[in-house]
Amino acid sequence: MRALIVRGPGQLAWEQAPSPKLSSARSALVRPIASASCDLDRRLIAGLTPFKPPFALGHECVAEVLEVGGEVASVRRGDLVSVPWKIACGECAQCRAGRGTACTSVPRLAAYGVPAGGNWGGLFSELVEVPFADAMLVPLPPGLDPLAVASASDNLTDAWVATSRPLATRENARVLVVGGTESLGVLAVQMANAAGAASVDYLDDNDYRRELAVRSGANVELEPVLDERYDLVVSATRDPQALHRGLLALAPGGHCSCIGILFEDPKIPLFGMYLRDVTLSVGVCNVRPHIPKVFDLVASGRCDPLLVSPTVVPWQEAPEALIQPLAKCIVVRERITAG
Ligand SMILES: [Zn+2]
Ligand SMILES: [Zn+2]
Repeated sequence: MRALIVRGPGQLAWEQAPSPKLSSARSALVRPIASASCDLDRRLIAGLTPFKPPFALGHECVAEVLEVGGEVASVRRGDLVSVPWKIACGECAQCRAGRGTACTSVPRLAAYGVPAGGNWGGLFSELVEVPFADAMLVPLPPGLDPLAVASASDNLTDAWVATSRPLATRENARVLVVGGTESLGVLAVQMANAAGAASVDYLDDNDYRRELAVRSGANVELEPVLDERYDLVVSATRDPQALHRGLLALAPGGHCSCIGILFEDPKIPLFGMYLRDVTLSVGVCNVRPHIPKVFDLVASGRCDPLLVSPTVVPWQEAPEALIQPLAKCIVVRERITAG
């Protein structure tokens, strides 16, 4: 089978790789049919992360199920499923406590598309093993467009959790999304609206993303001084100064969800945050429990991930497409099971 391999900075190519096999009665083999670029992927390709090549790329996809082990009960051949980015068993103490991101049945950070916690392959590949099929896979409801939810594996669900969790305890919330990553900021605008925000402002100096944010329901004509104005700030940026500005924009009792990945330690205005009694959350998103809700939001039209204007390309064109500065890229291949 073919896997999309990062060989070195800027070097991305399809290579032959051993086909994965069912390793246990709980596992499934799936074939990705709509794989999305995560906002992290271009940096992984460019060599701007701690993850060193070579490795198979991709950790967001909708796949068709090809084969399942004897104990798998929730999916069967031909089903379309969302494949979460994180490998997790669903049964250990961490998984049962809702922390699949810290699953102890697999090495720490075991995930698709990054060389961490073992070699699990990437979700752009032709064939992928899902070791805990019942715990991980989420079947798509009939009629849901695989392209619209290709990113439910990570970015789309991350945006939902980052907005809906703090908004659940804040009525009439004023929200600021600090953009800067390819898709997360715009998706967060949509999800903040879906979660009932009173208003959503979007801060970004990129005109293309500002336009997408406006179409997603944000206001981009902001006051010059944003300090202490917002109940929720979603920091979807890698710029430490933009994060800093977002933290200063928190009103008393506010919350900042930091979902842009910063590899360096940023400057945090901690004393000012202390005086305003605000909270900051940062962490990899345990997407699996939230994917069904995200499917509902997309199916009911309360969010439209295709508004981030993904470029859709056949798998052969993935190496060229994924290095372009696009908001989102979706790589597709034909189904081989009846659909
Ligand atoms: Zn990701
Ligand atoms: Zn576990």
